[in-house]
Amino acid sequence: MHLGRTTLSKFLIQQLHDVPDHGKLAGLLVDVAAAIKAISAMTARGALGASYGAAAARNASGDEQQPLDLEANETMLRHCEWGGLVAGMASEELEAPYRLADEYARGPYLLVFDPLDGSSNIDVNVSVGTIFSVLKHVGSDAPTEQDYLQKGTEQVAAGYAIYGPATMLVLTVGKGTHGFTLDREIGNFILTHSSLRIPEDTSEFAINTSNERFWEPPVARYVEECKAGKTGIRGRDFNMRWIASLVAEAHRILMRGGVFMYPKDTKDPAKAGRLRLMYEANPIGMVIEQAGGMASTGRGRILEVAPTELHQRVPVILGSKNEVARIERYHHEYDRGEDKPFISPLFNERSLYRPEARA
Ligand code: MN
Ligand code: MN
Repeated sequence: MHLGRTTLSKFLIQQLHDVPDHGKLAGLLVDVAAAIKAISAMTARGALGASYGAAAARNASGDEQQPLDLEANETMLRHCEWGGLVAGMASEELEAPYRLADEYARGPYLLVFDPLDGSSNIDVNVSVGTIFSVLKHVGSDAPTEQDYLQKGTEQVAAGYAIYGPATMLVLTVGKGTHGFTLDREIGNFILTHSSLRIPEDTSEFAINTSNERFWEPPVARYVEECKAGKTGIRGRDFNMRWIASLVAEAHRILMRGGVFMYPKDTKDPAKAGRLRLMYEANPIGMVIEQAGGMASTGRGRILEVAPTELHQRVPVILGSKNEVARIERYHHEYDRGEDKPFISPLFNERSLYRPEARA
């Protein structure tokens, strides 16, 4: 009765038939999917699992590493290193790229991943995920760190898994964004969401407003306008969402639209943003673009940022096209000095009562 269903393997054979080295790319994505099934089982055990527990260490980005972060990282490495498909791998949890053991043949791809995204959500049982990006490795030498520093536009495949009530795999090989749901009885990913399209307009935005005092004026302007709702220049009410897990935010946006922001701020001037370019912003950015959305730093396309470091951070504004384009415009207007200082309509009405207005 399930003969008409499209499994991940069948889908990849169909999508990649005209891509050079297609067997290897499909093979690698099947290995990634196998790792994801293992991580899904691991996270689903919750407090019953052996790796559940408090932070064990800190990673290269200074984030706390929980035992599950490390176990998910090992799972990705072990599933993907053996088949002669990758030349090397890089992970959020490893300071330097992972070198393949000598016994394994080197393949044509570089795999970059965040093994467990949103892992601070584990103890509250909210969705977490895995994010991955596939780049080409040119030449036959062992890759150096420099070989990984390719723009997001160079990705040959990208995607994520979300471990929610259902486990889903969402991926793109540059021909649209497609979603698969894990059939736990059979152990297969089944195509359930083909050619996802993000609505161009939305009335939902997601941002961590506890950072408001650190925002740049164009971001403050946008959020103020959303909050003013019907009484402001947008003329309609907005809703706010915040899950604090990039995968969960991106997934909601893919399913029903919205805009997500982790913008540049002044909280730590040494950091350009919070999210990491190579294994968070680029793969999620490609998935979003392939579904008709936009992924921007506020001042340009994320996928066109030239990386200088493996763990580099980047501002992220992504989601429904018309909203992201508006936020980009606000940044450009601000940078050109055309942005009138923002005054909330509510604030305006009350301005007679403000002490400085009376003075
Ligand atoms: Mn992450
Ligand atoms: Mn992580």
